[in-house]
Amino acid sequence: MLNAKLLIVEDDEDDYVLTRDLLDEFMDKSYELEWVKTVRDARAALKRDEHDLCLMDYQLGSEDGIQLLKEATKNTFSGPIIMLTGLKDKALDAMAMKAGAVDYLVKANLTRDHLERAIRYALARKETERERVERLRAESASRAKSEFLAHLSHELRTPLTAILGYSDMLYGKVSDLEDKSYLQIIHQNGKHLLGLLNDVLDLSKIEAGKLEIDRSEVALEPFFTDIYLLMNVKAEDKDLQLNISFHGEVYPTIFIDPTRFRQIVINLIGNAIKFTQDGKVDVDVYLEKCKLGEAVEEGECLTVKVSDTGIGIDKKKLESIFQPFTQVSDTTEYKEQGTGLGLTISRELVHRLNGYLSVESELGEGSTFYCRFCLKDQPVKEKRKLLLNQTWTDLRPTLDAAYQGTVLVVDDLLDIRRLIGHIIGKTGVEVIYAENGEEAVDMVSTAKERNKTIDVILMDIQMPRLDGRAAATEMRHMGYDGPIIALTASSMKGDREKCLEAGFTDFLGKPIESHQLYSILDRFLSAVDIEKPALASRTVSISRAHQRSRAAVAEAQKQALVIEDNVDACNITAMLIEQIGWQAQTAYSAKEALEKIGQFPFDVVFFDMNLPDMHGYALVEKLQQQSAASVRFVALSGEEGDASKERDLGVEHHLMKPVNSEMIQQVLK
Ligand code: ADP
Repeated sequence: MLNAKLLIVEDDEDDYVLTRDLLDEFMDKSYELEWVKTVRDARAALKRDEHDLCLMDYQLGSEDGIQLLKEATKNTFSGPIIMLTGLKDKALDAMAMKAGAVDYLVKANLTRDHLERAIRYALARKETERERVERLRAESASRAKSEFLAHLSHELRTPLTAILGYSDMLYGKVSDLEDKSYLQIIHQNGKHLLGLLNDVLDLSKIEAGKLEIDRSEVALEPFFTDIYLLMNVKAEDKDLQLNISFHGEVYPTIFIDPTRFRQIVINLIGNAIKFTQDGKVDVDVYLEKCKLGEAVEEGECLTVKVSDTGIGIDKKKLESIFQPFTQVSDTTEYKEQGTGLGLTISRELVHRLNGYLSVESELGEGSTFYCRFCLKDQPVKEKRKLLLNQTWTDLRPTLDAAYQGTVLVVDDLLDIRRLIGHIIGKTGVEVIYAENGEEAVDMVSTAKERNKTIDVILMDIQMPRLDGRAAATEMRHMGYDGPIIALTASSMKGDREKCLEAGFTDFLGKPIESHQLYSILDRFLSAVDIEKPALASRTVSISRAHQRSRAAVAEAQKQALVIEDNVDACNITAMLIEQIGWQAQTAYSAKEALEKIGQFPFDVVFFDMNLPDMHGYALVEKLQQQSAASVRFVALSGEEGDASKERDLGVEHHLMKPVNSEMIQQVLK
């Protein structure tokens, strides 16, 4: 039985009745039939385009139906048209089909079966076509949306560079605590916005099918060690215990996209830490046999299980947490810390890596996320026991006992004092604190009286009561000859010189990174253990690199050119470059860049991809013709570049906006 709305175009009443009787035999009782007799009425009915199918007589009075058929299929009627005729004529048949009919039936031979088959077939084809058109429409709408989102987030990156950069810089320049807290709010919100942008960009890439998966061999022991070192700082800040362990025998390397794998694991551990107030976060890594449903395919899987003792998730809301922008925890405190996109992206990424992400949770009891990656197409490898825990138990006491001595941390902000103390305290040094310059001078004098040594002083410049510079000068007058290191967010030219004049030994630019602090300790304190395993030696090597770059700067100040049409973003990038001791020139257009390239001996050129007067790549080609072969080129952009084009041009790095001092340092070191 069929249910449809049919149109019959037939000028002969007997023929109409005959066709209708046949239709009545197999059509659903509720089917609708409209009968029109003339070409004019037919044209009007077809124009309304409200029928699922049309049966059209070939001979309509003095006119033939072919013209009507052509008009209808071309402009007005979207349904299938079946031509009915009194004669069997091959040429006519071909003509009707060419004009757009889906079938051709001879009235004299018409049976119920014939008619039913033709109608069923035509309707089925119409349905398939409709689905196809709808799918295409949906795909194109989704592509347009994703492209729009991708474009939007690229555009937003440039102003964010200025917001983050200037708020960071101002933070170190203002001394009023209230002003500092406002700047901190701007900075935090800027960072939140950046996180959101990155997530939206990832999501739009996933939706547009543009997310590239780049697999390579990933050694699991160093991979999880790095993740541990990164995430443990966050866990320790909340007094949580973070454990990562391997169980049973595991392949030492797997073939996976390292960046995306890392993103997923960090997101899960980050959430576990975020939503846990007391207790611990356990990460267990093991191989298991998975059944379909637990993974994408049956067979061997690598499982990363992240469990916490946190607030848990209501069972009814478990599935919804994977939906974009869903945050199920009730307190606003958590909402502000996230975007609600992390799990949506993680689930998609896991899926693209041939895996499956699932969750079990009890409200108030904690949550467990399982990330299972199918290992079907992995190169065959020997399994063995991976000894990650062992490595850390070896590492941590060594790090704890890495240096000895007393370090005085002087900063008016409690948070900063705590952070610095927390980082360097881990190396085994004794940390003492002062809140302002005056207090610091008093402490140095008391230490001298008591014959106690302060080995290193890390001191903020902008402080109430006595500022850092005055305090350093005072300390030198008192005969203190140990290293005094300035902590400053200021990046103005000549700052370094002013610091050295005031009696500082060196200075560190804010935001201060832990490796910079370790490098200071490494320079001025004696190490307790001669033999240091991986982590400690990494600290040393970072410190050497740091010293090398300082030595290089001392030899001759290096020159960079920043080409960017957004004036704010351009200036802040130049300042970030100057902050690490380089000189930076700016150009706001390709034209200006071409004028400047010959005027200075640039070592590195940072170029924006979308300049108003020329595309970045074309500009690089021109600049290369006018500059020394040793000049290095670095792309700055809100979007990913064309890797092969950049390789051909010799572009060394592609930095995604907003750039920060860490990224600049990486590139220039
Ligand atoms: P967000 O950026 O908000 O963390 P996610 O997509 O990563 O976004 O997580 C979505 C929501 O799922 C969170 O806002 C939170 O309500 C819930 N959630 C995720 N992980 C946990 C966890 N380990 N414990 C409790 N709730 C969680």
